[in-house]
Order: sequence, then C-alpha cells, then structure tokens
Amino acid sequence: MPLPEYELFALRYAHREARRAEHFVGGDPHDGPMPMAYYIWVISGAGRIVLVDCGFDAEVAARRGRTLLQTPTELLTLLDIDPAVVPDLVLTHLHYDHVGNLDLFPSAMFHLQEPELHYAVGRHMRHPYLRAAFEVEDVVALVRLNYAGRVRLHNGVVPLYPGITLHPAPGHSAALQFVQVNTKRGLVVLASDATHFYENMESGRPFTVVVDTAGTLESYDCLRLAAASPEHIIPGHDPLVMDRYPAPSPALKGLIVRLDVPPVG
Ligand SMILES: [Zn+2]
Repeated sequence: MPLPEYELFALRYAHREARRAEHFVGGDPHDGPMPMAYYIWVISGAGRIVLVDCGFDAEVAARRGRTLLQTPTELLTLLDIDPAVVPDLVLTHLHYDHVGNLDLFPSAMFHLQEPELHYAVGRHMRHPYLRAAFEVEDVVALVRLNYAGRVRLHNGVVPLYPGITLHPAPGHSAALQFVQVNTKRGLVVLASDATHFYENMESGRPFTVVVDTAGTLESYDCLRLAAASPEHIIPGHDPLVMDRYPAPSPALKGLIVRLDVPPVG
C-alpha cells in the first residue's frame, strides 16, 4: 500500500530580536541582526493529526523576554484543530520553547526519546549553563504524565505511523529527535533544533546551545539522509521558513505556512 501523503504546517507563535553572533559557536565575523522565530508543527492526513512540540506560555515568554505573537493553541484553532482532542504530540526535546503547554493537551500521548528525559532529570542539571534551556515545571509535568501512562519513551528510529518516522539526533540536547514526514512533494524533515537556522546546517556551524558539538555536526548529515533534498529540511527557528513557504489562506499569512508544497520564495 502506498504511504499516506500528509499535509504539513509550520505555526509561528513567537519571536525575538537577536544578533548573528548569538547563533553560531565561536561567534560570527559579520555580526548583525538575526531574529529568531518560534514554531510548532502540524501533520495532518489519513484521518490523523500529529502535533510536533507545543511552545511556551505567556508567563515564560515574559520572563525570558520573548514576544508571544499568538498562543500555540490559538494558532491550532485557526486550523480548526481542537487542542483538547489532539491524540499524538511529538516532543522533539525538552527545552522550554518546545514543551511549555503540556496541560493544554489532555487527550494526547506524548512521544519523546527516552535519554532526553533521563538527561533532564539527571546529574547534569545541577549546572546552570546546562539547565538554562529547561523549565523545571515542564520536566516535572512530563514525569507526572509518564506516571499517568501518557508518555511513550522511544529509543532510536521509530515509525510513529505509516509515513511519519521519528529519528534521534543528539547534539543540541542529549536526545533530540527530528520528524520525517511523507508528503506529496516527497519526504520532508521537520528538523526542529537539529538545525535552528538554514545557515547552521549549510555552513556547518552549530547553534550556541549545545551538549555535544560533534553530535550536532553529525546530525546535519542525518537530516540530509532523511530528506528528499536539502530543500525538504525545515529548520526549527528560522524566520526564512515564513518567507519561503505559502500561507494556507490569505488570512493566515505571517502566522502559518504549508510545508507539503514546494517553496515559493
Ligand atoms: Zn528551540
């Protein structure tokens, strides 16, 4: 049977101003403005909805100086998706900007690579530098969800559904995973923070938050192997994604783009 061809969306929920030197290990010789976008992603088709990551909330946005544009759940309702009934939520990793709204998805099964949870509750979290990207309340919430039977902890490459595959790519965090999705334009890879910007991967210079630099560099090759072409790789925080892909409708311009169709810009 042929694999389902899913529709795929990037939903931009937040923004921050930043400089180039903040985004590359070792800085950047041509420092200048380089803003960062924050996304969640929706996979839709074959009678199923899979959400990838769930963003942060207003309190965390204010405390960390991020500009919340729309809450992730508001954006989902713009696509006629009721957060209360979303059945599957893939967590690419446990950093605050990916797992901040777990309680808003009461029907979801959460999918995570097991070593990511071990890392987030383990010995390294005593170091401020290593725990800075985690919110302890998010980690505790996930532990509680696990005790409630609502977390699937995966180890390695896992087919979630036909045409949707989870791939571990440790480096930025201990056990980040990216998501490979079959679409009508071929296999698209939601890289999440395996590459924050197109330029991290293209220039082979990792983002500044990194647990394992060598692993991060290796994961760029994993992304390329999993995608139909380099053009099919969607970075986790690049505002260019909003420019390169079309909105599903004029009303959603600037908020949501479709990734299952070829880039336009
Ligand atoms: Zn992130």
